[in-house]
Amino acid sequence: MNTTAGIEAIKLTRGFNGSQGVIYPTLIWDEGTAILVDTGEPIHLEAIRDAMEQVGVPFVRMNRIILTHQDIDHIGGLPGLVQASAHPVDVMAHEEEKPYIEGLKPLIKLKKELLQEKLNSLPEDQQELRGQIDLLLNHTPGGRVSTVLKDQDVLPYGGGLTVIHTPGHTPGHISLYLGQSKTLIAGDAIMYSEGKLRKPPEQFTPDMEQAIQSILKLAKYDVETLICYHGGVYPGNAKQALAELAAECR
Ligand SMILES: [Zn+2]
Repeated sequence: MNTTAGIEAIKLTRGFNGSQGVIYPTLIWDEGTAILVDTGEPIHLEAIRDAMEQVGVPFVRMNRIILTHQDIDHIGGLPGLVQASAHPVDVMAHEEEKPYIEGLKPLIKLKKELLQEKLNSLPEDQQELRGQIDLLLNHTPGGRVSTVLKDQDVLPYGGGLTVIHTPGHTPGHISLYLGQSKTLIAGDAIMYSEGKLRKPPEQFTPDMEQAIQSILKLAKYDVETLICYHGGVYPGNAKQALAELAAECR
């Protein structure tokens, strides 16, 4: 594995809340930095460590975290990751997501009452699931955001990383574009399931009209590799699939 620079979607399984089993944070690294884009949930800490080791980027190198948005399957792992790091981690998110991530505003979609109800109704022998729900209830929200991002910021990592504000799924949702490798990290602005790119699901997307505008915005980029948090790396011609999704949205 080339450890000088790279981009890798990390496959995580066994999530509980909203992640429907499989999610894909992305690791971006070069000589100076290792950035994790989205954190999974609290239970994923060890899996993230293992995945980083496997691509030749030891966990100790991780010095930045970018959060695409506030949903718990994206920020749930943040406190654990920051705590496990031997050095300070620069946590970055869009300015509009910062107050939610820092707990100044309640997360838009996390319904604690529902989680508590679920926990109460689970039999005692479901220890693993009980533990996961308990972690979610007691370890949210994620923690401090040290760097605030806005649309079209270009960060000097991975050969240049453009921040694209893609609201709709949440107000401060961002996607990331790496121009050098023509890689788009869509977050939840675009999902991939059952062989097809899709809009984010209506029930979890408070402003669908904005979400559609965000897809059209992303479709203007020259994309060779598309990584969706839900679905992973698009296996076919990403440019064409993105154009088809945009056409459906128009
Ligand atoms: Zn999500």
